[in-house]
Amino acid sequence: MSDGPERVDTIVDGWYVVTMNPSRDIIHYGSVALRDGVVIAVEPTTEIDARYRAERRLGGARFVVTPGLVNTHIHITGEPLTRGYVPDDTPFEENVFGWLCPLYAAHGPADERMSAQLAATEMLRTGTTTFLEAGTIRFLDEVFEGLEAAGIRGRLSRWVWDLPPDPDVYRQSTDEAIGHLQHQLESYRSVAGGRLGAWATVIGHTTCSDPLWRAARELADDHGVGLSFHMSPARLDPEGFAAEFGQRPMVHLDELGVLADDVCITHCVHVDDRELAAMARTGSSVAHCPTTALKVSYGVTQIGRMPEMVQRGINVSIGTDGNNASNYSDLMRAMYLVAGLFKDARMDPQLFPAESVLEMATLGGARSLGMQADIGSLEPGKRADLVLHDTDRPEWRPLLNVVNQLVWSADGRGVHTVLVDGRVVVEDGAMTGLDEAKLWRDVQQAGEAITIRAGLPDKAKWPVRA
Ligand SMILES: [Zn+2]
Repeated sequence: MSDGPERVDTIVDGWYVVTMNPSRDIIHYGSVALRDGVVIAVEPTTEIDARYRAERRLGGARFVVTPGLVNTHIHITGEPLTRGYVPDDTPFEENVFGWLCPLYAAHGPADERMSAQLAATEMLRTGTTTFLEAGTIRFLDEVFEGLEAAGIRGRLSRWVWDLPPDPDVYRQSTDEAIGHLQHQLESYRSVAGGRLGAWATVIGHTTCSDPLWRAARELADDHGVGLSFHMSPARLDPEGFAAEFGQRPMVHLDELGVLADDVCITHCVHVDDRELAAMARTGSSVAHCPTTALKVSYGVTQIGRMPEMVQRGINVSIGTDGNNASNYSDLMRAMYLVAGLFKDARMDPQLFPAESVLEMATLGGARSLGMQADIGSLEPGKRADLVLHDTDRPEWRPLLNVVNQLVWSADGRGVHTVLVDGRVVVEDGAMTGLDEAKLWRDVQQAGEAITIRAGLPDKAKWPVRA
């Protein structure tokens, strides 16, 4: 028999601990014991006190503790430094080709590094500890390096495509595109002790040839990673795809053998029954981006099939996309929209209850990334990714129903402390690994310089006077 308590390095205490374990226990006055970046135990505080002794104690009676949230679609380059510059009344085509492409092209390596740090800062400070990137525009080395300091967990990939010839700054032949994928999967298998790593991401839409789709599938298999891409946000996407490839996107990709249970498809607003069936049969996941759908007028509330996806057992997770189509990356605000949009659209309050939405933002995200064994819940053996929400705030009081409060009342502003792999990366609302004051100055300067280099006019409608 062992005598005395077992040593751990940290104990995190909470008023409530939302475990997301299989029985979805919420522990009133609970604690989480951590050692070497791993969760050792999640129990009532009295039990943890009896069994463990820690060098460090965090949290306390005013905090709600949850697993770190998982954002399954975010652009960490190209968009953060130009946040909100694109007018909010621009049609889809003009948005992408008239604005975003020239803005992306005006980024240099230092810009992309800084952009990734701004994105990581916004995510961590609002409770997201893991993300799946939409695709680094060009400079993967700098982006990995910038993220290492931030301390976030993520899967990244340089954007590849091989079809449209413009803009020529991104032009890639099929061989070059495959070469980029292969290179990054070999070079970035595991960065920062596995916290960061490469993933097989292609842009999607109508930008990839069949040989590139097949190669991405094969490379994902060879390297044991997943595959992600954009598809069918707006009506013209599947229509354009069908015109070019002879059938609707998911049907075609299913025939090519691309769809599988390690695939995460972003948007999927315009999908028909056959496509839904293919997605369900192959176990593909969806990254639902409600903020983009609203701002870019995708029609998700009229056309979207997210309730049917859930009904068919398709794993639907949540993304916040790029900062011009969705100007914030606070997943808690996106959770609110996921919970509300279809309740109103279908006039059915039973759709997307708060509990399901919190599952989508944690376990669902983990499943989209193939990381369900490691993240998404607070259970012994999982990585120690925790968020402490400060309830000494007006939107958190009175606290009578924790999950309702997390989804319907709170947002990322209440996030006080964040741990990734047991390491405190946000403390009292601020980043521990980055100089925030410097970051605010640098991104302002870089953002202004990028808009000038891109040669795009300032379209703000009201005069700014000195
Ligand atoms: Zn996107």
